[in-house]
Amino acid sequence: MALRFDNRVVVVTGAGAGLGREYALLFASRGAKVVVNDLGGSRTGEGQSRAADIVVKEIVDAGGVAIPDYNSVVEGHKVIETAISNFGRIDVLVNNAGILRDKSVANISDEDWDKIFDIHLKASFVTTRAAWPYFKKQKYGRIIMTSSNSGVYGNFGQANYSAAKLGAIGLSNTVAIEGAKYNIHCNTIVPTAASRLTQGILPDEFFNQLKPHLIAPVVVYLCHEKTEDNGNIIESACGWATKIHFIRGKGSLLRTSLDDDVTPEFVRSKWDAINDMSEARHFSSNTEASAYLGDIIEKLKNPS
Ligand code: NAD
Repeated sequence: MALRFDNRVVVVTGAGAGLGREYALLFASRGAKVVVNDLGGSRTGEGQSRAADIVVKEIVDAGGVAIPDYNSVVEGHKVIETAISNFGRIDVLVNNAGILRDKSVANISDEDWDKIFDIHLKASFVTTRAAWPYFKKQKYGRIIMTSSNSGVYGNFGQANYSAAKLGAIGLSNTVAIEGAKYNIHCNTIVPTAASRLTQGILPDEFFNQLKPHLIAPVVVYLCHEKTEDNGNIIESACGWATKIHFIRGKGSLLRTSLDDDVTPEFVRSKWDAINDMSEARHFSSNTEASAYLGDIIEKLKNPS
């Protein structure tokens, strides 16, 4: 059975180019009414243009339904309002808009820091908060947050971007927990794709293989009403996808009983065991991770 989005309204932010454009085109081809949001600024976020119009025309020419929205995602409530005032509902929100202000950490101005955080992280919260009452009322909503390997691993010259992109994962984790009982699911995409953000950064041969349209089916699948995934982080590029998990090592006790104190020397003596990831495991919730601490306290109470 084809995955359809008939009668569904999808908002894609930053859909005037790159990945967002591909998401918008694919959702529309599957029957969704699409809000193509894009401020149309430069790679570093200056100026604005009507980039969204071109994508809307592509969708309409192909027989689909779409409208442009030129608001900055920083005013994300206005983007959601475009969906409500034109289509009367919202079902899917893809937080995708982004810019870069790359500099090494000592050279990042407060403005470069704030701008990256506003667009990549705060805007994803503002759009989500604005869509929430509609999702909750209809007991259905699908949200995508967009992270980056720069957030997961760090990247030289991207302290602002890395921090905001890892923040998107934290935001998604909690949105997923709070939304679960209302059938509001939130997942994170970690893409690598050829776009103006990666042009000149990735080697040409690599860049040419990273077609953004190859990632769109992953995002569209995650947003379908029958897809149960919630709170997952999915990395995708060049026709490949996988899940990303945080894992935690088994660790080591840093004292022998509850009566002892922890000393730097004891920490030093256990450093190899602290860093040993051979028995690492994934915890699926904060509760599960904290429950493990109960076992540690029991061990300290009853030293063998
Ligand atoms: P892109 O520059 O082609 O597209 C981003 C779009 O967002 C642009 O059309 C831009 O005008 C729009 N935009 C920027 N600021 C906006 C604002 N304030 N309001 C509304 N629209 C705005 O870049 P892309 O590579 O397609 O990136 C899409 C998302 O994927 C970004 O969040 C980016 O950080 C993320 N990402 C991309 C890659 C990659 O390899 N391309 C890797 C990791 C993460």
